[in-house]
Amino acid sequence: MSIVLGCIADDFTGATDLANTLVKNGMRTVQVNGVPSGAGLRDLADAEAVVVALKSRTCPVHEAVKESLAALSWLKGLGAKQIFFKYCSTFDSTDVGNIGPVADSLAEALHTDFAIACPAFPTTGRTIYKGYLFVGDVLLSESSLKDHPLTPMRDANLVRVLSRQTDELVGLVEHKIVRQGSDAVSAAFGALKQGGHRYAIVDALDDADLGVIGRAVADHPLVTGGSGIALGLPENYRRQGQLGAPAPAELPAVSGPAVVIAGSCSQATRGQVSRARKLWPSHQVDPLSLEDVTDAARSVADAVLAGLNSGPQMIYSTADPDTVQRVQSRLGRNQAGDTVERFFGRLARNLRDGGVRRFVVAGGETSGAVVQALGVQAMRIGPEIDPGVPWTESLTLGSAGEEPLALTLKSGNFGAEDFFEKALAMLDERNGA
Ligand code: ADP
Repeated sequence: MSIVLGCIADDFTGATDLANTLVKNGMRTVQVNGVPSGAGLRDLADAEAVVVALKSRTCPVHEAVKESLAALSWLKGLGAKQIFFKYCSTFDSTDVGNIGPVADSLAEALHTDFAIACPAFPTTGRTIYKGYLFVGDVLLSESSLKDHPLTPMRDANLVRVLSRQTDELVGLVEHKIVRQGSDAVSAAFGALKQGGHRYAIVDALDDADLGVIGRAVADHPLVTGGSGIALGLPENYRRQGQLGAPAPAELPAVSGPAVVIAGSCSQATRGQVSRARKLWPSHQVDPLSLEDVTDAARSVADAVLAGLNSGPQMIYSTADPDTVQRVQSRLGRNQAGDTVERFFGRLARNLRDGGVRRFVVAGGETSGAVVQALGVQAMRIGPEIDPGVPWTESLTLGSAGEEPLALTLKSGNFGAEDFFEKALAMLDERNGA
């Protein structure tokens, strides 16, 4: 049996968010972290969807393109019939990319001349109307995303934003068409194609709209968007008889010491960190004191490991926009991000080696750094903690398994204020801690 859907996600939290959506909609799904070397279908058991998590959202364009094409070729080798390029529901990117250039290269490799671009995720408040992306009640450009440390979003008009990242024409399918159903949406795609458009931003206000759009892209070789749009895809495959019985999502059977690592400076994470500081021993990290990342990671790890058996602890670099700006003006935007990420990667490795088994990680880039440093090759998707964030259990591909870790990777702006406690309480309940 070969897989039905191959997904390429531009960050690690986005990958688990997408895998979570697919599992909830009845697809057997495995996430792999990076393109596995040598792992074949045999190692992926009975997966119907495979999500390749990349860390390509903010890296140089040529690297993002190269990695995405490598993921595409691996997924095609597994027999993927449709390819989904997943990016953030807030379209996190800059004027040079990476969404446009990656989508261009995937479309070219798949010999297709048309794809949708739909980051809508209504469950988490991301909706699109007349091509403008809203975050909750405000335009993207008025939301806290305007201050993101790496991809500040200052324009809410997605036709304009994507047009700056590609030479191809970008059109719009408005909500009044989506409301008429999938035949009308397909006809609108046809008209845009005729007019030479490569991409269509598609309005979506609720899950019913996503279902309509999902049906309309059933025969598209390439779909691009947020995890919301994946809601409508499994039904297509089910209708075509391509899916087996769904497997229940089970919590990881992992007990042992737990830490929260927060490298996100997003609004939701700031609230979660400030609540958790009152509950658990916490270690704040100042990026300006990380001249020697290895040393700093060692000494913070020692402090955490000293109190390992007295309950969860949190390590965070989370800060408000003014503080982040001060750090960035001293270190440079990318250098600041990179230093903090390398620190958290090393820290996570030291903590794992010291006995930590359960990791709650906040931040997309931060999660990528942590999971890569831990060498986690693949993850089985468990139940959802808050919308878009499941528990996962590490899997080893192709060789004798290491002791599994429980990991949850939270996109910065996801989760309620009590997310960290809730995540750990779910595991405690499962594992009788
Ligand atoms: P989110 O999911 O909220 O976007 P990310 O982890 O993707 O979170 O991005 C946050 C970025 O900000 C990372 O590159 C991280 O290393 C960086 N960062 C974290 N703390 C600070 C800080 N105090 N100052 C500057 N940059 C920081």
